[in-house]
Amino acid sequence: MKSSTHTFAFALSLLGALVFGPTMSLAAGTDNTQTEHSAVPISASVKKGSKQGKPPPRKVSEAQFDFVRSNLVATLYHEFGHALIDELDLPVLGQEEDAADVLSAVMLERFFIGPALDRIALNTALGFEADARDQELEGDDWAWSDVHGPDWQRYYNFVCLYYGADPENREDFANDMGLPRDRMESCVDEQDLASRSWGLALDRITANAPGSSIGFSSRTRTERQKKAARIVAEEVARLNKSYVLPKKLRVVVKHCGEDSSLSAFYTSGRVKITVCTEYIDQLYHQAPK
Ligand SMILES: [Zn+2]
Repeated sequence: MKSSTHTFAFALSLLGALVFGPTMSLAAGTDNTQTEHSAVPISASVKKGSKQGKPPPRKVSEAQFDFVRSNLVATLYHEFGHALIDELDLPVLGQEEDAADVLSAVMLERFFIGPALDRIALNTALGFEADARDQELEGDDWAWSDVHGPDWQRYYNFVCLYYGADPENREDFANDMGLPRDRMESCVDEQDLASRSWGLALDRITANAPGSSIGFSSRTRTERQKKAARIVAEEVARLNKSYVLPKKLRVVVKHCGEDSSLSAFYTSGRVKITVCTEYIDQLYHQAPK
């Protein structure tokens, strides 16, 4: 699934992460009563690690936390996409998971600028890359029946959208991340379509802002989880400043349990986004050291 070009890009991206400071990832399941849409399955390696009681390293650098923060933000925006599709009854002309990834990229462009945006974009791409590499390390084949596209594809889609929003200033980024020339040619059009399409939906919830239609609560166990939950709370506050949803949405950070294979997910029956503390732990684990 990966090319030698990409391997080179990965080395460069790791270097970039070390130099500029890091930054992020995104996945779904179904039960009989409600649909859940998630961002990223918890990787097998992390689940095994937690069973063995192997604690993560004690000190978390600013760069590592930046990776955690960035991926949490991008994942929350992905789940927000599922919530909007549900609450606004949006037509989805393709895979819903792809649409949610696209909204995440569009919202990052709206809410962040300059170096902060550059960092979050790099870390988001690194998050997809980390998921892909975790799976490769496990020796697992991609589950082609999964509702999500393969991690490497999500990686390239994200890099393309980011590049397409400002091609004059982001060509180096696209090259460093291994985006092939022929894909680069369509990225401006892809970004235009993404921002126009999601822009129509976002306009519908912007008119009456600010508001308080999104609630937040958390149940965390460790200081690291608490710190990460505060990031989610800040993002909820940001969303409330910009948008008012027709139905109250709840965002909850909590332990999802040993059996959970989801990182974060939207539950349509309950109008709720859940961010699992297991996912937070995974991000700390994946963060470039
Ligand atoms: Zn999803």
